[in-house]
Amino acid sequence: MERKNVWKTYGESDLAKLEEIAAGYIEFISKNKTERECAADAIARAQAVGYVSLDDARARGERLQPGDKVWAHVMGKALMLVHIGRQPIEQGVNILGAHIDSPRLDLKQNPAYEAGGFAFLDTHYYGGIKKYQWVTLPLAIHGVVAKKDGSTVQVNVGEDAGDPVFCVTDLLIHLANKQMEKNASTVVEGEALDVLAGSRPLLTPEEAAELAGEEPPEKDAEKTELEKLAEKEPVKAYLLQLLAEKYGMEEEDFLSSELEVVPAGPARECGFDRSMILGYGQDDRVCAYPSLLAQLEADDPERTAVCVLVDKEEIGSVGATGMTSRFFENTMAEIMELAGEGGELRLRRALAASAMLSSDVSAGFDPAYASAFEPKNAGYLGKGLVFNKYTGARGKSGSNDASAEYVAKLRRVMDDAGVNFHTCELGAVDAGGGGTIAYILATYGMDVIDSGVPVLSMHAPWEVTSKADVYEAYKGYKAFLASMQ
Ligand code: MN
Ligand code: MN
Repeated sequence: MERKNVWKTYGESDLAKLEEIAAGYIEFISKNKTERECAADAIARAQAVGYVSLDDARARGERLQPGDKVWAHVMGKALMLVHIGRQPIEQGVNILGAHIDSPRLDLKQNPAYEAGGFAFLDTHYYGGIKKYQWVTLPLAIHGVVAKKDGSTVQVNVGEDAGDPVFCVTDLLIHLANKQMEKNASTVVEGEALDVLAGSRPLLTPEEAAELAGEEPPEKDAEKTELEKLAEKEPVKAYLLQLLAEKYGMEEEDFLSSELEVVPAGPARECGFDRSMILGYGQDDRVCAYPSLLAQLEADDPERTAVCVLVDKEEIGSVGATGMTSRFFENTMAEIMELAGEGGELRLRRALAASAMLSSDVSAGFDPAYASAFEPKNAGYLGKGLVFNKYTGARGKSGSNDASAEYVAKLRRVMDDAGVNFHTCELGAVDAGGGGTIAYILATYGMDVIDSGVPVLSMHAPWEVTSKADVYEAYKGYKAFLASMQ
């Protein structure tokens, strides 16, 4: 069952479309590096093609008709797009699911400190990372600072050419004899992932006056908090002064912030042939982006088309914005009510009759680490969309195992639409394993399968995908949304 390299199948028109999709994708992941940024961008794109917010649709109180499009979100971090089909929703919907959170370093709630003449921001990593990969890279900070007055400040530093960047330092090789003996999971400790954020001290009022050749301030003059801090921790004080000037924030505002430290700079074409993409956060935006495009481009569908992009997959799909939250079910209930199909039983029937492509990245075969894979059942860059009948670990534990009948239907849908696909497992048996959001929606009794795009260096700051696979995923998702189950 050898699968061909899909690049060999492309004519001029395929190549033109492939490059168009890849360029849009590179721009999307370069601009959107947090779940909030991805959600906001997706909502803006949806509104531009006629999606209305669920709140507006409810306020209007008009019955949703086939062809109507609605979006809903939770906390700006997870969203659903619903395009009402001609068939009653009770007969099931077609769902594209993916996640928009990615591994990263999050600033702690009390992050700022000074040591050795430097200011640092302390972090707690998010998701599964090899910590040693995150040192000595240019880093950017994206996120929000919510203030007590109810306002929220957007932060995005390190992406524009004129912006400063940040980094986590590493010990020089010359002095690393002991460090180099440690095992890879401890060679850089989680608590050592502190972001270097400044080295210039704030002058005290006395120092500033002396430097300017002015009279020193009155001995009993009232001092601000920053002026007091400048006496003990002048570099941290200068950092806080800059944050106050730029964002109007004080140190306490870190308590109600979500600031994510991510690799700085745009995604790039990779290889002399430009066939691949090197970028941050491709797990799982490489599935989220084509899912979003397919949903937005859907012609009025026979079966209702749903795209759900969720947060928190990398830490177990938990919380209000993760797939295990009731957001999906509640939104479906609202939509069905507005479509004149309200009621608990109808909702249950709709969910049980639905079908889903739960899309997430899969491990791409890497010849440098060939023993971690079983070649007949590995994902390959350049062989198209990939389906994982099951994932899991230690004997498929924790996996949603898609039914053979569903896999057969999908083979037909993909073959009929000329979509290049292959199947794979997440590495060789007992090499490790992993899970996705597939098992969560499967609890409703719907057909769900893991699908997606193979990636090299998954969860590394810079991950590799193939443009061809992004294109085939886009084609596959479109074919799926147009299919009858
Ligand atoms: Mn993932
Ligand atoms: Mn992941």
